[in-house]
Amino acid sequence: MEDERLRALPSVERLAQALDADPALRAYPPVERRAAARAAIAQRRAALRQGASEAPDCAASPLWSPSQMFEQLCAAARQRLREARSLRPVINATGVILHTNLGRAPLPQAALAAIAEIAGGYANLEYDLTTGQRGRRDAHGEALWQELLGCEAAVIVNNCAAAVWLVLDALGRDGAALISRGELVEIGGGFRIPDIMAQSGVALREVGTTNRTRLSDYEAALAPDARLIVRVHQSNFRLTGFTARPAVAELAGFARRHGLVLFDDIGSGLLADLTADGLRDEPLPARALADGADVVTFSADKLLGGPQAGVIAGRRDLVERIRRRPLMRMLRADKLTYAALEAALRLYRAGDWAAIPVLAMLRASPLALKQRAQRLARRLRQRIPADICRIELAPGASVIGGGCAPHIALPTTLVALKPERHSSEELTARLRQASPPVIARAADGRVWLDLRAVFPTQEGDLAKAVAESLAS
Ligand SMILES: *Cc1c(COP(=O)(O)O)cnc(C)c1O
Repeated sequence: MEDERLRALPSVERLAQALDADPALRAYPPVERRAAARAAIAQRRAALRQGASEAPDCAASPLWSPSQMFEQLCAAARQRLREARSLRPVINATGVILHTNLGRAPLPQAALAAIAEIAGGYANLEYDLTTGQRGRRDAHGEALWQELLGCEAAVIVNNCAAAVWLVLDALGRDGAALISRGELVEIGGGFRIPDIMAQSGVALREVGTTNRTRLSDYEAALAPDARLIVRVHQSNFRLTGFTARPAVAELAGFARRHGLVLFDDIGSGLLADLTADGLRDEPLPARALADGADVVTFSADKLLGGPQAGVIAGRRDLVERIRRRPLMRMLRADKLTYAALEAALRLYRAGDWAAIPVLAMLRASPLALKQRAQRLARRLRQRIPADICRIELAPGASVIGGGCAPHIALPTTLVALKPERHSSEELTARLRQASPPVIARAADGRVWLDLRAVFPTQEGDLAKAVAESLAS
């Protein structure tokens, strides 16, 4: 029997050809595909020589066939290729939609197609097709921003931290900015508003108190060197109780009366009004601009659901001043970002929220999530005996993450795994070693799987990873 299997091992050439034909493996050079094919065959040959009992396809299976073995070898070679890579796809079973450590927003399909099309060749990135002269990269997408935000002008840079820095550098340098003490926040990853202001050469005038700031506090801090009022969205925390701060419209009127610029760092960049989905007090850039903010900044890879970028939008004269700063050249976005962002904005213009993964995950119905959890639990129970792991369903809450709307708990159904022979930490560690790795949360002796940020196409791999992690 072993001899028959040894004889049925394919040639390296045949296996490599099968790998070459797999579109998912185009990211790997042919030499690496061939090496993976050779290694997979060598490993199988060694296993067969050690005896059928140690070969992965043993089980004295009457189902064994050369074509089944070929499929298994393909899978083994594919896994080898993927595991050799540093930056790899993972399955996000944490229920955190904008997981900063897992790359924040997954892009819409339309954005991926745009990246492939633009990045694989040449494009009119800085080339005016009408005149044949040099063009401006920040012209791309500006009309869409005008339409979606109602702004006069917009530019993008590498991320929102860069956008904030650039605005302060261009509009506040050698002057002062008034900011409420309740808004001197740390956004995360060491990004602290007071530090950024200090380093961009803007003098900081703290106004009001942590919990209450009134218009009269801004008035009291007025001085001839004041250039800006900076308003920062308290993205990652909520101040509740005895609190107050002026609305954008009030501040805008005040700023105008005193010849100051009102700069609103919104951070999260929600373009769709999701009040109906429970996102009640998340600021909309379009509304801030309509209420009189002169310039706003926000991330493109938070609630907008696009690629990493920082958007600066507002009055044309101010955006022009920002554009002309030398820093702009250092912080500029690349063509991949422009391609992806334009594609995402087109989806907003078409009202196609379902095609934007972040919005689709955020708006997934509790019933649909429950049904997916039930299906996964059934699948797992079929493969995993109850004395190895108890598999139960439990109500739970997903979060948006990325420092956005921390008070929002999105109802979901969790699959709870209670491993009988391992600790829950051991199981999460094994899941991280799966291919693709599965990232899940361990708490109370259980591993909790939330399907909200898992793509339906990943459910098979997820079930396989859980079954295999519990098997040994
Ligand atoms: C997230 C955030 C930033 C930083 O955005 P990045 O795109 O991560 O650089 C700045 N300001 C606010 C208010 C934020 O919420």
